[in-house]
Amino acid sequence: AKDDGKRRWRHYEPGLHDQAIERTALRDQLARAIDEQDVLVHYQPVVEIGDGRVCGFESLARWPHPVRGLVGPDVFIPLAEETGLILPLGRLLLRQSVEHIAVWNQARDEANAEAGPGSLKVPPLYVAVNVSLRQLRDPRFSAEVTALLRASGLSPTLLVLELTESDLMRHHDEQARRTMNELKELGVRIAIDDFGTGYSSLSYLRELPIDILKIDKSFIADIATSPEQAALVEGIIRIADGLGLSVVAEGVETDAQWDRLGGCDCDFGQGFLFSPPLPSGQVTALLEAYRDP
Ligand code: C2E
Ligand code: CA
Ligand code: CA
Ligand code: CA
Repeated sequence: AKDDGKRRWRHYEPGLHDQAIERTALRDQLARAIDEQDVLVHYQPVVEIGDGRVCGFESLARWPHPVRGLVGPDVFIPLAEETGLILPLGRLLLRQSVEHIAVWNQARDEANAEAGPGSLKVPPLYVAVNVSLRQLRDPRFSAEVTALLRASGLSPTLLVLELTESDLMRHHDEQARRTMNELKELGVRIAIDDFGTGYSSLSYLRELPIDILKIDKSFIADIATSPEQAALVEGIIRIADGLGLSVVAEGVETDAQWDRLGGCDCDFGQGFLFSPPLPSGQVTALLEAYRDP
């Protein structure tokens, strides 16, 4: 029995050791990728449910890793949060997102000018960037956002910062609250992400300076097949409406879900039905394809 215990220990210990080494290696690689600006963002369109018009994009982080291929955020965002790398990483992703959307909007402005007075204008696009609580707690954050907006010329109202419901519910503190209010003052909009998956005490929807509510995809999945689920989503939309929030349904994958959302008076949708997240180089083509039906 004594031997067994030893063997188990010997067997177990190297495993943990390997994991720790691998984690350290991944952290170092991520730090280097951030330094060299190798982490990038893909863009998923957010679409108006009524007429299918693209009104903005959510930016989603991607890491082209030399060995692992294109690594998704579920792998490296938690690592970045745990190691503090989220601050420089967040800065890099925010800057890319703001610069890209500023360029796409400039092209739209030029098209509007060319079309001449009296013709139908295309409205500017917004960009929604995911932000971790660690960033909101950084006392420099709102000044950085201000500087970034000024440098790019992007209107603050065209920047949306997405914070998950669980981040907002569990850990918001004085500094985070101050940052949110400063951003709000600036004109930046705040979205509550993954709504319905955190501790849903609804009173905080009124207390926090939120503009947009994103219904988590787990609520959308069964909306076309389950009347109960549809009733729940309809209720959420009615509450959001009453509070003056706009609503985005996430994870829309089927026409049936789309139709059901239209019936629920949902403003905006996002999901594979319309488009997966695209590399920045494909966004102009998507917008062009949309303009010529
Ligand atoms: P999220 O903010 O909820 O982003 C939506 C996720 O759903 C994305 O996964 C997107 O690719 C995926 N998705 C979009 N449409 C559909 C659909 O129709 N069906 C399904 N099943 N999924 C869909 P992704 O890109 O893997 O991102 C995962 C999470 O990582 C994000 O969830 C967000 O919480 C986090 N994340 C991504 N980029 C960043 C970032 O720049 N900063 C921070 N802090 N977090 C990020
Ligand atoms: Ca999001
Ligand atoms: Ca979400
Ligand atoms: Ca999520």
